[in-house]
Amino acid sequence: MEDIIREGLAALGVPAAEEQVRAMARYGALLLKANETTNLTAITDPAAAARLHFLDSAALVTMADLAGKGVIDVGSGAGFPGVPLRILAPGMALTCLDSVGKKMDFVRDACAALGLEGVECLWGRAEEMPQLREKYDVAVSRAVSELTMLSELCLPLVKVGGLFLAMKGPDCEEEVRKADFAVKALGGRVREIRRYDVPGADAVHAVVVIEKVKPTPAQYPRRWAQIKKKPLLG
Ligand code: SAM
Repeated sequence: MEDIIREGLAALGVPAAEEQVRAMARYGALLLKANETTNLTAITDPAAAARLHFLDSAALVTMADLAGKGVIDVGSGAGFPGVPLRILAPGMALTCLDSVGKKMDFVRDACAALGLEGVECLWGRAEEMPQLREKYDVAVSRAVSELTMLSELCLPLVKVGGLFLAMKGPDCEEEVRKADFAVKALGGRVREIRRYDVPGADAVHAVVVIEKVKPTPAQYPRRWAQIKKKPLLG
């Protein structure tokens, strides 16, 4: 995994010291080992994990300066994209949030094994966390839900002036267009869609960069049943 990560980071233009490369490979090894007994990821091949978990996540550091920032990873699962970002961004404080406790247990234990500081793991639902409201400089999220609903989970957690980075497939224009009403209603504004090649994976992915321009109205987020039943479509 180390060689793929080292070369892939260089291809992405992400500077990394050898110890950061090693930390990612070690986290990957812990993930694949834990995955033998606990269902944490569908990707079981080390080379694919290096590309589709670590390099895909790392691409975000080319899109926002995360050093020293407070970042929440919503629906973090086994720690993606949050943990690779924490390894790469000095002084970043990471909160991983997931509604499945065993995933957060894995991330907590694996980060402790790596001696990776500044990582908090929370078990719970993003829409049921009033104590986290407008607390973060940046929210990131990958593979959690469609952008209209995802915006209601993530934008309330971001400070005014902060960013929400939603990782998506390359053909996300229609999804972004559909989410426009929700993004605005929640205090956001779509700045851009940034596409990138995942090195070695023959895949183009995209990040929707959303700015938080005003506070989220108090009625959001709603309960999940409401978000799902009546997504904010205008
Ligand atoms: N982000 C990780 C990745 O890309 O590998 C995990 C993606 S996994 C497909 C989606 C994760 O989102 C699951 O672990 C699920 O438990 C979590 N999730 C879904 N809805 C959530 C919510 N409302 N609040 C917190 N976590 C949620």
